[in-house]
Amino acid sequence: MHGIPPPPWLLYIHSSEDYNLQIDLIAHEGHVLVLPYPSQGHINPLLQFAKRLASKGLKATVATTHYTLSSISAPYITVEAISDGFDDGGFTQAQSAEVFLESFKSHGSRTLTQLIKKHQTTKYPITCVVYDSFFPWALDVAKENGILGAPFFTNSATVSAIFSRIHGGTLRLPVRLEDCPVVLPGVPPLHLEDLPSFLNAPESYPAYLKMKLNQFSNLEKADWIFCNSFQSLEPEVIKGIGEQWSAKLIGPMVPSSYVDGRIIDDKGYGASLWKPLEHQCTKWLETKPKNSVVYVSFGSMVSLSQEEMEEISWGLHQSGFNFLWVVKDSETHKLPKGFLELTTKSQEKGMIVNWCNQLELLAHDSVGCFVTHCGWNSTLEGLSLGVPMIGVPKWADQLTGAKFIKDVWCLGVRVKVDAKIGIVGREELVSCLNEVMNVGEKSLQIKKNAKKWRELAKEAISEGGSSDKAIDELLMALKGFCKERDLCLG
Ligand code: UDP
Repeated sequence: MHGIPPPPWLLYIHSSEDYNLQIDLIAHEGHVLVLPYPSQGHINPLLQFAKRLASKGLKATVATTHYTLSSISAPYITVEAISDGFDDGGFTQAQSAEVFLESFKSHGSRTLTQLIKKHQTTKYPITCVVYDSFFPWALDVAKENGILGAPFFTNSATVSAIFSRIHGGTLRLPVRLEDCPVVLPGVPPLHLEDLPSFLNAPESYPAYLKMKLNQFSNLEKADWIFCNSFQSLEPEVIKGIGEQWSAKLIGPMVPSSYVDGRIIDDKGYGASLWKPLEHQCTKWLETKPKNSVVYVSFGSMVSLSQEEMEEISWGLHQSGFNFLWVVKDSETHKLPKGFLELTTKSQEKGMIVNWCNQLELLAHDSVGCFVTHCGWNSTLEGLSLGVPMIGVPKWADQLTGAKFIKDVWCLGVRVKVDAKIGIVGREELVSCLNEVMNVGEKSLQIKKNAKKWRELAKEAISEGGSSDKAIDELLMALKGFCKERDLCLG
């Protein structure tokens, strides 16, 4: 079976202006409202999903908080505001996860309802809400308004399966050393260092743990469940958890230009909570030989201690490799004295940036490996671009990501924490960098595997691939729903 061919009008669209001109001339087969949790690692995959749906002829609107509204802009996507109750400062204004999540639930439910009602009398009434699985209340709003609703899980299927088991009571908290390895259907045996950090210390982040478990609270009412993964990446997990958590795998949700290339000019997500340094990064990379640069990023949330920053800094310096490291402005004061002078200023060995277009860098020929915190988006991006990885996980699902990178997909290594200092020492980082960057049996195997995963990721999202088919099934169902309700206008 092949995917649905793109609607003919799409072939003629080369810019968002074209789209806006055309948008009123065509009949959309459904209007999907996509609601991400307002952090970078959640907006990116959900916005990408919205773009995929729009590229297949649906009208797609992203609903986001007032505070993040101006940070999102993507061709073919309408962006509208709802309220989390902290319109001026978002999460920071709330000052605690608990207050933020409670406020989002009450203000979000009310303003999401208003948004759905506002569209009800327009040419394109909303037919389905695809919401971040962190917001199960959005499903209640969808159902109260008589429309379809589907959660989107931004974690791996494995991590989602683990939380599903905790919710279902078949995995009890806390998971202690003596309970390990944890063996779940379809998942390789997991030791404490491979499990999401909440499991061993559930009291450490009570609000987040509650949110993680709440994801499953009303799933029986959902019309579909989506997960940003793909069939060949986690096939056994899906078989193992299938009955309890029957998700459609629709990933990798990475901008199309880096995978299948079917969405014209889709080179970035279209959302940036920080201003990326654009041309300077690629200009600097152009001066470096192929595969010679180590790209280092810990994502949008991790904050390293001063000691960790020092070890990583001196590890990078000692390794002698070129490096490009994303260090947010708020973190630069933790860089050790003399490090910048030695590396970035006089030797041009390194470049430190506040924020960048990560995909553009990962796709660059000069980049030879990715030192990553193993956030799920970064993991999928590295994998989709075939870049060998060095996992330096810090907390939450990053630990499980690192396990898979090293032992399941075998496209990288994972640093060992130095038991004496409780963090990763510089020698360990140097040793991992040498293992991945220098030519040797191990690095060749890693590169080979990275290439294989790149091809499999591409295949999944390309026309007729497993994820593409899953998205097409959604399209068909929405079409049926519109027909039934006589909602196809245009
Ligand atoms: N990212 C980026 N520029 C940077 C660093 C990260 O655009 O300088 C993006 C990256 O491409 C990814 C997201 O930020 O899509 C981070 O998500 P992830 O799940 O990896 O980690 P989180 O930030 O949620 O911990």
